[in-house]
Amino acid sequence: GFVPASRLSTIGVSPILKIGARAQAMKRDGAPMIILGAGEPDFDTPDNVKQAACSAIQRGDTKYTALDGTPELKRAIREKFRRENGLDYAVDEITVAAGAKQILFNAMMATVNCSDEVIIPTPAWTSYADIVAIAEGSPVFVPCEAEAGFRLTASQLEAAITPRTKWLLLNSPSNPSGAAYSEADYRPLIEVLLRHPHVHLLVDDVYEHIVYDGFRFVTPVALEPRLKARSLTVNGVSKAYAMTGWRIGYAGGSRELVKAMAVVQSQSTSCPLSVSQAAAAEALSGPQHFLKERTESFRRRRDLTVDGLNAIEGIDCRNPEGAFYTFASCAGLIGKSTPAGKRIKTDNDFCNYLLEEASVAVVPGAAFGLSPFFRISYATSEAELREAILRISAACARLA
Ligand code: PLP
Repeated sequence: GFVPASRLSTIGVSPILKIGARAQAMKRDGAPMIILGAGEPDFDTPDNVKQAACSAIQRGDTKYTALDGTPELKRAIREKFRRENGLDYAVDEITVAAGAKQILFNAMMATVNCSDEVIIPTPAWTSYADIVAIAEGSPVFVPCEAEAGFRLTASQLEAAITPRTKWLLLNSPSNPSGAAYSEADYRPLIEVLLRHPHVHLLVDDVYEHIVYDGFRFVTPVALEPRLKARSLTVNGVSKAYAMTGWRIGYAGGSRELVKAMAVVQSQSTSCPLSVSQAAAAEALSGPQHFLKERTESFRRRRDLTVDGLNAIEGIDCRNPEGAFYTFASCAGLIGKSTPAGKRIKTDNDFCNYLLEEASVAVVPGAAFGLSPFFRISYATSEAELREAILRISAACARLA
């Protein structure tokens, strides 16, 4: 029979996708399901971006492109890094791939040797650990306290670093917690990194535009240029421009790293999709005004969700700085029993209870490496969010 390679031994289909598939199946069977699991904006891709793609097709931009991005797109990215982040990456320090996910994959495959360690503060996006595992590295999880805003502290970082540490992965604003690092939060971490020159830093900034209440987004390489030679600044158009299906992510890093990543890409996808690259160049260079409007709409939904959750006994939810997720504690409900007499022992049990008894799909904190919590993606209509909160509240009231 067929036996999967050992590098897949610790990797399964993402629990988020599994819950989503189960919820979709229940919906098809007639359950009035509200699915708060999706990691994508519910807005449409802007019209100017769609138009740029149509023009690219008509012009005949339908062939292989340069291996890691067209010169036009790389120039647009260079300009974006300069304009929005105060970063100065030359065109040959920029790489483009089929999503920020492929950027991460290329980076880990290009740099991680067997048993190299990669520090991942949790809660974290599930793919980080799985990509490290495919590259045959060892993820080192560092649980971050809700009281510390789910942020890694300098002493935690210092304690996690060993001679085998290859990378530190940071994500701000974060999926799943929505927590973001301010300049003051980054400074002590940067001090630690400067003391350990063998540690590389990967920052995932894909949610940078979705921040609230005047929070000032910053990225570490702009704060400390001495980090530039050993860092990779990752970004993409999926979240900011509602372009998840176009599959374009990009990064700035050292020439050597970017070159090695291109080798991985050359033997997997050859290049990102030509039409999507034209669309992404327009997204980054065209009008940006709708970003603020969309973020304002996300802010209203965040407020509604956080206030709604905090009004429920047993649930405790921190007000996130950004992204479109809340990561709420269900510690106050652990140990209670459902009307059918089933005990809620874990966040998994709680999420299953919500799925089966309230027809609301959310993702357990266990999927992100921190329990007992659950993640709500509030990238859905206010009406649906209100209904979901009512149902969660009623379901919690039935626990005894
Ligand atoms: N990074 C984080 C933190 C994410 O949450 C996601 C998507 O969910 C990605 C990267 C991947 O984005 P892309 O669509 O560019 O591959």
